[in-house]
Amino acid sequence: VGDPVVLDMSRACRNCWPCIHGEPWLCEETRNSTPAGRLEDGTTAHALMQLGLFAEETVVPRNYTVPLARDVPLDLAALLSCGVTTGVGAVRNNAKVRPGESVAVFGLGGVGLAAVAGARMAGADPIIAIDVSPAKEELARRLGATHFLISDDKVARQVRNLTEGRGADHTVECVGRAATIRLAWSSARRGGQCTVVGFGRRDDMVSFSALELYHFARTITAAPMGSTDFGREIPVLAEAVRTGEFDLGALVTHRIGLEEVPEAFERMKRGEGGRSLVVFGG
Ligand SMILES: [Zn+2]
Repeated sequence: VGDPVVLDMSRACRNCWPCIHGEPWLCEETRNSTPAGRLEDGTTAHALMQLGLFAEETVVPRNYTVPLARDVPLDLAALLSCGVTTGVGAVRNNAKVRPGESVAVFGLGGVGLAAVAGARMAGADPIIAIDVSPAKEELARRLGATHFLISDDKVARQVRNLTEGRGADHTVECVGRAATIRLAWSSARRGGQCTVVGFGRRDDMVSFSALELYHFARTITAAPMGSTDFGREIPVLAEAVRTGEFDLGALVTHRIGLEEVPEAFERMKRGEGGRSLVVFGG
């Protein structure tokens, strides 16, 4: 009682087949249900992922929490629950980036920026950050990007130019659109790997010709929640934050009060800034 915790949005049951076989991010018991409760005045409140956020207090089952060491900066630790762990996890667990490998990250929202930071922690070089908005460049470079490109139909060629003509060893798609997945796939080298982190639509089809699949011999893989065991990896990331290896604070562009949350969502929809951090009692 009284221990700081991060809420675990993967909410793995630890009992089903994927959980027992070390893949809790594929837990069969996890449902993306958003049960509704009622506030005192009768208005309906939705608890995203059964966690209940944007609130000063919440009640969750014990297995939805990951205990933290006490000397971790708790305001920043709040970011470890979702996008940050997903972005870093995709680089660590799916791409398994090694020092000196080239990484291109498509889409620089919270997840993509975290993937850039993950690539830096893995010792990748170059780290090419790609977005439709030039305003993301400064943020991406602060998190470890060595190059920044604007996403358009020439981007695969530009990535090849930055990687001795080959294409990147790893591309990481953090948008969830067929067009970007295709760009990310085309930007990987022959034999390289394209990791899809973005959550896309059912009817958004990606197509590859039979010949190019064979010729380019690339691997395409998906990373739901960064293929992360939150219970095991959040404490590791928290330690990297504590030691300064992971500059998590660089992701935060706005510190806001609870009443500014709608404004923060509007910024996110416009693709502006990094993370907005809600500070309680500020
Ligand atoms: Zn499970």
